[in-house]
Amino acid sequence: METIGKGTHSRIRCKQLIDCTGNAFAASLAGYELLREKETQPGSLIFRLEGYDLESLDLNRIREQYERALQSGELKQGDASVGIIHMLRQRGDNAQHVFGADSSTAERHSMTNIDGRASLLRMLRFLRKMPGCEKTYLASMQTETGVRETYRIDAVYNISHSDYITGKTFDDAISYSYYPIDVHDENGVIPKHLDDEIVPTIPMRSLVPKTSRNFMVAGRCVGSDRLANSALRVQASSMGMGQAAGAAAALASQNNITPIEVPMDDIKSLVREHGGIVP
Ligand SMILES: Cc1cc2nc3c(=O)[nH]c(=O)nc-3n(C[C@H](O)[C@H](O)[C@H](O)COP(=O)(O)OP(=O)(O)OC[C@H]3O[C@@H](n4cnc5c(N)ncnc54)[C@H](O)[C@@H]3O)c2cc1C
Repeated sequence: METIGKGTHSRIRCKQLIDCTGNAFAASLAGYELLREKETQPGSLIFRLEGYDLESLDLNRIREQYERALQSGELKQGDASVGIIHMLRQRGDNAQHVFGADSSTAERHSMTNIDGRASLLRMLRFLRKMPGCEKTYLASMQTETGVRETYRIDAVYNISHSDYITGKTFDDAISYSYYPIDVHDENGVIPKHLDDEIVPTIPMRSLVPKTSRNFMVAGRCVGSDRLANSALRVQASSMGMGQAAGAAAALASQNNITPIEVPMDDIKSLVREHGGIVP
């Protein structure tokens, strides 16, 4: 692989590669097949609003004004992803939706960041006109609009929704995932929780692109269908996949084999040795 930076141009050679870009960027460079939905989940800019006393606000009046602002175009759908009252209660935290959010190219990522900030500015200007919210201010804001969904790899095995919600234990399960099915859309989000005692697992084969050798992914680009991915994409699951992929890559490299050929018990022992939890 060649990398170019300010005054640098270097070539990196490796025996194993793990793509943790979220967007399967390295997998796309390597030419492996990727999966993507026509419509992807909205992203969100995370910020925190302060300067108003929720208890003393006339919420009905603000809701009416909010509906009017949506109709007039002053506010856009997604500026308050599950309504203005939720936005005020959450103080902005994860209460906005940016439709078409995409971080898979520099241009789209920049547009997504701009869209998130424009949405926040519309909301701030609107709130400052509401009685009791005149002094609303931005207490904090993340630097980037978070993106929930772009590309997944087409893996040797793609985890299905049914696998996930039934907690299928795969023969080659290398880590756990524990999160509701969580698809955000234009109506907001209503997570669909797992039944009691269901703890889904992630098979090694889902980290490996079809037709690849010595290449894995870890994180939200794991091979899976859209619904399964809406749950698998979260941080603890991504961390578990990363630990397992790291162990598999190290063992494969030491033994001059591909990750999928490494005995499962060896991967699990190595992850356990480093404090990881494996099925
Ligand atoms: C608004 C929002 C709220 C969320 N809330 C939660 C929550 O409450 N709990 C939870 O567990 N999960 C939550 N998630 C989901 C979770 O944060 C992500 O799905 C998860 O971080 C994905 O991990 P990842 O390692 O696959 O990708 P990322 O965390 O996106 O990491 C990928 C990294 O690769 C870098 N990268 C990408 N391309 C390149 C490149 N070409 N060159 C160099 N670097 C590159 C990126 O900059 C990034 O640092 C939320 C997501 C969003 C958007």
